[in-house]
Amino acid sequence: ETILKLDDVNVTYVNKEKEVYAVRNASFSIEKGDSLGVVGESGSGKSTLANALLRLHNEKSTLISGAAEFEGKDLIKMTSKEMNELRWKEISVVFQKAMNALSPVHRIGRQVEDIYHVHEPQASRKEIEERMIYLLKLVNLPERVYRLYPHEMSGGMLQRVAIAISLLHKPKLIIFDEATTALDVVTQGQILQEVVQMEKEMDMTRIMITHDMSVVAASCNKVAVMYAGEFMEIGRVEYIFKNP
Ligand code: ADP
Ligand code: ADP
Repeated sequence: ETILKLDDVNVTYVNKEKEVYAVRNASFSIEKGDSLGVVGESGSGKSTLANALLRLHNEKSTLISGAAEFEGKDLIKMTSKEMNELRWKEISVVFQKAMNALSPVHRIGRQVEDIYHVHEPQASRKEIEERMIYLLKLVNLPERVYRLYPHEMSGGMLQRVAIAISLLHKPKLIIFDEATTALDVVTQGQILQEVVQMEKEMDMTRIMITHDMSVVAASCNKVAVMYAGEFMEIGRVEYIFKNP
C-alpha cells in the first residue's frame, strides 16, 4: 500500500539574480513500512526535498511544483492550515542538530507538554508524561530524562530525546535528515538498532536522508541515490549494494 507518491516534483530556489534547481523531476513512491535511504553527496538536494515535503521553506524564494500525494492528500497543494495540522502529527522530522529545537531554559518534560498540546490541547499532563516515558524507553533513555534540562545531557542523549519527541503523536511517516550524523559510530549504531526495533512496534514508514551508505545498510530496505538534484536510481537495498 502506497503511503507517499511523488510525481515530477521540482524545487527551485530563486535568489536575486540566479535560480538553483535543487530538486528536479523527482518521481517515486514509498510503501507503508518502507525505510527509504536517500543518499547523495553534499549539495545534491536531499534536504531540499525533505523540507519541501513539509513545506518548511521560505515560500517567497522557493518554487515547488509537481505533486506529492500522502495518503490521498497533496502535500504541495494543500493549504498552510492543512499542512500545520499534518506536520509533526502525521509526518515528523528529526534534524541533525535536534537540540537546536529545544529550549535551554525548560526541562524536557515541560517542552514535551508544550509540543504535545499544539495538536492535543485536551491531553492531561499525566497522559503526556506516560507517553513520553514509554518513548524514552524505546530509545533507551531512563525516565529521569523527563525532568532534566538539555544542558544536563550529552549530544547522543539529546538526539534520542528528539527522536522520542518526533514520535509523540504516532506519525505515519518520519523523516531523519542526517539525524545520526553528528554522533560517534557506537552511539549511531545503537540508535539505528533502536529505530529499526521501534518501527516494528509502531508500524511506521521512514525516509532516511544521509550521505553515509553504512547508515542505509544498517537501517533501510530501499535506497534512492540523488545526484545534482536528480534521482539516479531507486531500488531495494540488496539490489543496489550488489550492483554498484
Ligand atoms: P543536500 O541536503 O544534499 O546537501 P541541499 O538540499 O542542502 O543538498 O542543497 C541542494 C542545492 O540547493 C545546493 O546547490 C545548495 O547550495 C542549494 N541551496 C540549498 N538551500 C538553498 C537556499 N536557501 N537558497 C539557495 N540555494 C540553496
Ligand atoms: P516553529 O514554532 O519552530 O516555527 P512549528 O510551529 O511548526 O515550529 O512547531 C511547533 C513546535 O513544535 C515548534 O517549537 C517545533 O520546534 C516543535 N517541534 C519540533 N520538532 C517536533 C516534532 N518532531 N514533533 C512535534 N513538535 C516538534
